[in-house]
Amino acid sequence: MMSAESSVAKRLEGKVALITGGASGIGESTTRVFIKHGAKVLVADIQDELGQSLCKQLGTPETINYIHCDVTSESDVRNAVDLAVSKYGTLDIMFNNAGISGDPEPSAIASDIDNFKRVLDVNVLGGFLGAKHAARVMVPAKKGCIIFTASIASKICMGLSHAYTTSKHAVVGLTQSLSVELGEYGIRVNCISPYAIVTPLFQKTSGISNMEKVEELLSAAGVLKGAILEPSDVAQAALFLASDDAKYLNGVNLPVDGGYCLNNQTWK
Ligand code: NAD
Repeated sequence: MMSAESSVAKRLEGKVALITGGASGIGESTTRVFIKHGAKVLVADIQDELGQSLCKQLGTPETINYIHCDVTSESDVRNAVDLAVSKYGTLDIMFNNAGISGDPEPSAIASDIDNFKRVLDVNVLGGFLGAKHAARVMVPAKKGCIIFTASIASKICMGLSHAYTTSKHAVVGLTQSLSVELGEYGIRVNCISPYAIVTPLFQKTSGISNMEKVEELLSAAGVLKGAILEPSDVAQAALFLASDDAKYLNGVNLPVDGGYCLNNQTWK
């Protein structure tokens, strides 16, 4: 008799994925889901121990590998894409997920310009480099799928977080712009906009370290009740966008926010 686990239809069988920021939070969860669905995965991150131990836990080098890759370095990103191709023969899915929230900004006047540049470098330039080098492989193959992790900060203002809000609005611009260019080659480009999830990034920005507090916030925001957003919910959205089930979705910013952005213009 088949177990529930083995009877799950594998929606990414034969596909090769590269996941930036794949060692933690949303990226880690997506790595787990993609492996479960039959993909071969290259995890790219700057947290080497975490990334390597995740790979050991989830499979063998035939199915999953780790590479140190700072997404702000073009040579690192180029090497990561090249490694995916040399190990697994192609690249079907590029998940540009790595991101930082940056330091809290007391006000625009008192803001630290280096912090602003760092956030844009990782969240925007890093994603662009991922897309650029993925396209290098995908355009000749005339197929592929590029996904970015944006945020509700791509739709609303995050209060005193100008750099993060700016960076995530830019991710949507990048998604749309690339979807027009690369759609010509059969390559789909979409992004996902999650609400708050307790990950190291979120804890750093909000100081909130437990789901109960997030649930309290969600209740206060007057949105979806009875569920708490988890990294795996975003991973499932990434799975959908990466799979052939989403074969006609291009240039989309998919919210995974329980309706938060419909009810709120700013982060409260
Ligand atoms: P996380 O801190 O758990 O994961 C982020 C990962 O990115 C880490 O593994 C980190 O090492 C990696 N990273 C950071 N800088 C990097 C760089 N220069 N090069 C390569 N890797 C780098 O946080 P997370 O919440 O899982 O964040 C993933 C994405 O989700 C980010 O783009 C973030 O903006 C977005 N997001 C998070 C939330 C949330 O509430 N957690 C909500 C919306 C969007």
